[in-house]
Amino acid sequence: MGFLEADRNVRDTDLGTEIVVTGTGVPSIDPARAGAGVLVRHDDVVLHFDAGRATAARVVEAGVDVADIDALFITHHHSDHVIGLHDFLIGRWVEDDLGVTPTLDIVAPNGPSTRYCRNTFALWADDLDVRASHNGRSADINVRLMGFDVPADPTADLVEVWSKGQVKVLAGPVRHEPVAKAVGYRVETPDGVIAISGDTRVCPEVAALAAGADVVVYEAMRTQLILDLAEELHFIADYHADTVDIGRQMAELEVPTLLLTHLLPTPRTPEAKQAFVDDVRSGGYGGSVTACDDLDGVTIVGDSRSGIERRTI
Ligand SMILES: [Zn+2]
Ligand SMILES: [Zn+2]
Repeated sequence: MGFLEADRNVRDTDLGTEIVVTGTGVPSIDPARAGAGVLVRHDDVVLHFDAGRATAARVVEAGVDVADIDALFITHHHSDHVIGLHDFLIGRWVEDDLGVTPTLDIVAPNGPSTRYCRNTFALWADDLDVRASHNGRSADINVRLMGFDVPADPTADLVEVWSKGQVKVLAGPVRHEPVAKAVGYRVETPDGVIAISGDTRVCPEVAALAAGADVVVYEAMRTQLILDLAEELHFIADYHADTVDIGRQMAELEVPTLLLTHLLPTPRTPEAKQAFVDDVRSGGYGGSVTACDDLDGVTIVGDSRSGIERRTI
């Protein structure tokens, strides 16, 4: 495994599949951390997962034009995962002066997530109308909403929800009750497999998404610390992924690279961030693990795990 320091502005995108965590934050507002978001780029296929606060800006900061995104995937309808959706949509429309930006696929589990998308389209219709009439353009937001059904049986096979060229995206249910129809995603590329947990407890459903994966982007919570802060916060602890359990599960699955995101509680110091890593290690995990800041990421190269490079972005 080679380590590579890369300047944000000179990244070579042709070397493999790039995974960038565009937002590591949670619902509470932190100017240092955007909301939930993960960018995956394989050659000319550009995918973004969730659309939390300010993730569109982070995408641009990562050197990607929002117009170049082929598909945007929603894990569930909690606000910290979708509140930035309109930013992607209006941003694309405003920049598409010539009407050449391809249709954006929005892929989401049927139910509250697809309903949120439709409501968002409607919410901004007046804005688009006045802009369109002002400059003589179509107010068509140019999206294709692709809802899919989440299998009721948690042991059911993952569902293929999107593909382009050699890139395939599958979805499966995760355990974020009481949120219904929460999913995680699995991206399969010739360079390797990336699993994105969404919000979930550590559970067999995540193992199904992450089996054989080269990189797992996992939400992470230091449960004991949360409970130490206040016992009443157990409702948060009940539906997020405990860091020690993550370490245990990722060790069992022999996942080589783990990116922790959606960090709870938000670490404010290097020591607090390191504690997430220490927890995962105490669960028995010996691979590469990073408690991410926004725009941290990795690039996987080829179909061999030995080709993984880590970039500090
Ligand atoms: Zn959630
Ligand atoms: Zn969340």
